[in-house]
Amino acid sequence: MIYMYDKEQLEFIKELEIKNALYKSQKKKKRLLLWTIILILILIGSIAYFVFLPNLQLKGEKNITLEYSSSYKEPGYQAYLYGKNITNQVKTKGKINTKRIGSYKIEYTITNGILVNKMVRKIMVVDTKKPNIILKGKEDTYLCPNQKYKEEGFEAKDEYDGILTDKVQIIKKENEIIYTVSDSSKNKVEQKRKLITKDIEKPTITLAGTSPFYLYRGSTYQEPGYQAYDNCEGDITNKVTVSGSVDTSQIGSYAIKYIVKDAAGNQTETQRDIVVRSERNANNSADVKGSIYLTFDDGPGGATKEILDILKEEGVSATFFVTGNGADDLIKREFDEGHTVALHTYTHDYAKVYASIYDYFSDLNKIRDRVERITGHRSNIIRFPGGSSNTVSKHYNLGIMSKLTKDVLNRGYHYFDWNVDSGDAGECAASGSTKCVYENVIKGLSKNKANVVLLHDVKSYTAAALKDIIRYGKEHGYTFLPITEDTKMVTHSVHN
Ligand code: ZN
Repeated sequence: MIYMYDKEQLEFIKELEIKNALYKSQKKKKRLLLWTIILILILIGSIAYFVFLPNLQLKGEKNITLEYSSSYKEPGYQAYLYGKNITNQVKTKGKINTKRIGSYKIEYTITNGILVNKMVRKIMVVDTKKPNIILKGKEDTYLCPNQKYKEEGFEAKDEYDGILTDKVQIIKKENEIIYTVSDSSKNKVEQKRKLITKDIEKPTITLAGTSPFYLYRGSTYQEPGYQAYDNCEGDITNKVTVSGSVDTSQIGSYAIKYIVKDAAGNQTETQRDIVVRSERNANNSADVKGSIYLTFDDGPGGATKEILDILKEEGVSATFFVTGNGADDLIKREFDEGHTVALHTYTHDYAKVYASIYDYFSDLNKIRDRVERITGHRSNIIRFPGGSSNTVSKHYNLGIMSKLTKDVLNRGYHYFDWNVDSGDAGECAASGSTKCVYENVIKGLSKNKANVVLLHDVKSYTAAALKDIIRYGKEHGYTFLPITEDTKMVTHSVHN
């Protein structure tokens, strides 16, 4: 069945539809108006905001990374309102502790009373410095063959984290040890210790008994013993080779050498000085009263030949304290004609011989060897340049004469100064007066002592005085003698 409207009903519906359409159109207009008003208000608000809001600008970076412990320097900022600088009204907030790593911020605020402008700067305090590993012992560690490495210790430190020693990781390899550590900021450091299997240490030799080792002439030398030790091999005494010999029939210094080599070829050498000394003590000998010991120093020299001729003619034996100067033949003649050839040092150079004990004996050995080479005999009678009482040696070595006067005796030498000074190297030297030399000697002679007369065979005026000196001595009952090992030493007091 179909429902049908009547005519009246249809008109009513039509009227309703027209009313409805009108209503809808009016609503649409209202809404449009509302939106337009809102838009205008937003526009006005925005313009007002930008005109009245203070302007704020940050200088420098907005995000700053700062190294731990460095200092933060504010890069600056600026604020304006209507073109007017109001930077001094900006308020800042926020603190940075550069001693602690972390993230910090600083807030900058400017206000005109109503509107607030705010900006933020971020600061990161970081630690980019690596820790430090300090190895104890040596970086290059030498090990004996089959020796295991024993940790010598280490220390790890970080500027920020402090001690990190217990965080160190150790990797042991065959030829090296690697130490690594990281700090709390993951900064990592590596340190290496090299391991070298090689014995680089020399063995040691320890001598039993003393050096110098003293013994009397005619006695038997017996090795006092020794021991050799190597860091890798232990006791290697059986590898020591001993060389050198001692002639105990001859007074003098000898050396015994000890050499040892370990398996790696490291060699150690040491020496024992052996001193063979006279069984006679010159200080215990009686002096020969009324004797004259003519002693000639510094030669062989220009007057030696003439002096030897006179001594031969007069049948008198004397003593020559020789140096490295002059002809070998003259020393040979001195010895062959019955005089004593004694030692006065090779160079006679105060600066050299008194530089040190070592230098003195080096020089003395040189003249001793020269005399032995020429005469075939080793002399153990000496005179110090300048005498044992000299003070010139103070310039080169303070106290050296006090030591030398003892040392020479310990080494078997007898040393002689003088008690009659001819003055031929002193007061008579300037004038070169023969008379001066003669008178000084005669004045100094005494029958109550052994007269040791200081003369120099490098002075012709001394040679010229010699005959008269000998004649005076003979006429007054003196006996002329050469110095020997039996002669009682005549010594000065030491002043250095
Ligand atoms: Zn001299």
